[in-house]
Amino acid sequence: MLLNVVNYGHPVLRQRGVRIEAVTPEIRSLAANMIETMHAAQGIGLAGQQVAQALQIFVLDLREVTDRPSTLEWEGEPADIADRMPLVLINPEVTPLNGATDTGPEGCLSFPEIFAEQITRPASVRVSAWNERGETIRFACGGLLARAVQHEHDHVRGILFIDRMTSAERRKWQPDLDALQDATRAALRTGR
Ligand code: ZN
Repeated sequence: MLLNVVNYGHPVLRQRGVRIEAVTPEIRSLAANMIETMHAAQGIGLAGQQVAQALQIFVLDLREVTDRPSTLEWEGEPADIADRMPLVLINPEVTPLNGATDTGPEGCLSFPEIFAEQITRPASVRVSAWNERGETIRFACGGLLARAVQHEHDHVRGILFIDRMTSAERRKWQPDLDALQDATRAALRTGR
């Protein structure tokens, strides 16, 4: 089932996600719907907050991206990204692997037509989470996958990529951000 993706200006995007205590049928259904919604929107990641669920859950699928490489070590072994997608991550813990950073472009399904050129993040991270079956999974990743994991991990803590824009980029986009926020709030007020 396709879910409605909320835009910037919806208060849920600033809510910290509640920890999921058990992977119930409802959570599995939410995860499946989030994957379907992400695919339909041609996104590579989607967090619970973006479908108005302030929970510690996000989904990823990078298989369609061919021009921005990733690295993946799954449970300590080099792994093929495609074999692990789509990914459901519940109650994720994300830790930078070393001091290296990477600067690159980002977009977000909750910010149509708004794109950052320069978001700086740790270049590689270690991740521990539950999957959609409630099993603990552990992996280390770099490249686009590390960027996507951190973007979504921010979402489940109420942090948005505009918070990590350079001040120059943020200034450039501020009129568009204000307009998007106003439109979202107006739609919420009229119940549309
Ligand atoms: Zn996003």
